[in-house]
Amino acid sequence: MPERFDADVCVVGAGYAGLTAARRLSQEAKTVVVLEARDRVGGRIWTQPLSDGSPVDRGGAWLAPKHEAIFALAREFDVSTYKTWVKGSHLLIDKGRTRRYTGLIPKISPLAVVTIALAQLKLDRMAKHVPVEAPWTARRAEEWDRRSIGWWLERSGIRTEIGRDLFEMAVRGLFTGDLNDVSLLHLLFLVRAHGSIGTLFSIEDGSQENMVEGGAGSIAQRIADSLGDAVRLSAAVRSITQRGDRVIVDTGDLVVSARHAVVTVPPALALEIAFDPVLPDDRMTLYRNAVAGPETKTLVVYDEPFWRADGFSGQSAEPGSAAEVTLDASPASGSPGVIASFTFGSVAKHLDALDQAVRRRSVLDALAARFGPRAALPAEFIETAWWTEEWTRGCSMAHLPPGILTRYGPLLHEPFRLVHWAGTETSTTSHGAIDGAVRSGERAAAEILQLA
Ligand SMILES: Cc1cc2nc3c(=O)[nH]c(=O)nc-3n(C[C@H](O)[C@H](O)[C@H](O)COP(=O)(O)OP(=O)(O)OC[C@H]3O[C@@H](n4cnc5c(N)ncnc54)[C@H](O)[C@@H]3O)c2cc1C
Repeated sequence: MPERFDADVCVVGAGYAGLTAARRLSQEAKTVVVLEARDRVGGRIWTQPLSDGSPVDRGGAWLAPKHEAIFALAREFDVSTYKTWVKGSHLLIDKGRTRRYTGLIPKISPLAVVTIALAQLKLDRMAKHVPVEAPWTARRAEEWDRRSIGWWLERSGIRTEIGRDLFEMAVRGLFTGDLNDVSLLHLLFLVRAHGSIGTLFSIEDGSQENMVEGGAGSIAQRIADSLGDAVRLSAAVRSITQRGDRVIVDTGDLVVSARHAVVTVPPALALEIAFDPVLPDDRMTLYRNAVAGPETKTLVVYDEPFWRADGFSGQSAEPGSAAEVTLDASPASGSPGVIASFTFGSVAKHLDALDQAVRRRSVLDALAARFGPRAALPAEFIETAWWTEEWTRGCSMAHLPPGILTRYGPLLHEPFRLVHWAGTETSTTSHGAIDGAVRSGERAAAEILQLA
């Protein structure tokens, strides 16, 4: 016999959106049950201890200075942040040639630098016309939603091959899918939701400026601890039934009868929950199209961050390689040394198809060519192919093909009877980021509190 519970609200998913919604509701004296499919909380945030106990982030890790909602949560739970290491030279590798530079601008042809800056300016200008709360209402929304990012990139005016490759890789890093399949309006919305395209790409004063002491999952874990038994792990929701003024959320082993549900799973995963009554066709079309792409995040761990003493920041880029982008992701103490290495979209897919030993060799060879022979001898090597994770299936957020945002965008956070929706894909400010997930949880909680 399944265990049965009554609650005011049943939250599906214990990522940052679900945990935030549950916390805000329980702070207002609502009874809450959180059902999480995995055997851990955090979702796309996954902090894991290394063999010496140091925490590292296999998923999302970085916070921008403007991510006020997650910073506020960090303060509530007495968790500190620290600045990403940026001192020293960065590296850009182009056809076997390594260019060392400091500051923001790599040493490529001035023509490439100027045309990249102009392309960024154009995107920022267009994005200013996109209302962050309702991007589908922009005056040129239809036109921009008919176009793909790939279409726009071909016409961006960026000169030189390395200039184009670098910019394409940076944008592919945001959406991870084939850029011919992603709406230009979605990119403009993302830019607007983060302030500027430069913010999304940057470390200092940008999306990669801060890391969390104890790992990005430490705040999630403290929220879960504060909720106690209300959080049920290894509880994958199979069906959601709405009858009269109750919603019945069923995992097979647990059945929760609640007045409202908040579903926070990545949109494509909502299709795997059996809804009764069924989800309307337009919502199904939205979720079928809201897929996330391939990305690998590999943590390469050394006894110390040896590259710092050699004058390197750990930041490097080589479009199309087994380590397209690297960043220093070492803990605040500076020990051990951790390089986070990323590949995106088709490059991630190609890397993942290699035999594990060949893949490891490819990543280490790329790092050794940049940071010297010590880079070939890590103490630990931790790979995460997020799109193969059963309860995520794509990175770092769903992207929308042309024609979807203008037709179905409002459904992203419109309730379906007693079911409310949260999750970073439903967020406006900080869309796609941890901060967006937190804000979406707060919005869903506020919706329910207003009804009560
Ligand atoms: C590799 C990677 C790097 C990233 N880097 C950054 C970064 O540096 N900074 C940043 O701000 N953001 C980053 N992100 C994005 C960030 O992680 C997400 O925006 C955020 O964590 C999403 O939170 P969420 O609560 O909306 O969704 P999730 O974290 O996906 O939470 C949804 C939860 O629902 C659960 N679930 C799914 N199906 C069911 C079901 N049927 N029943 C019960 N539970 C279910 C899942 O297990 C999961 O725990 C990154 C993401 C990835 C993958």
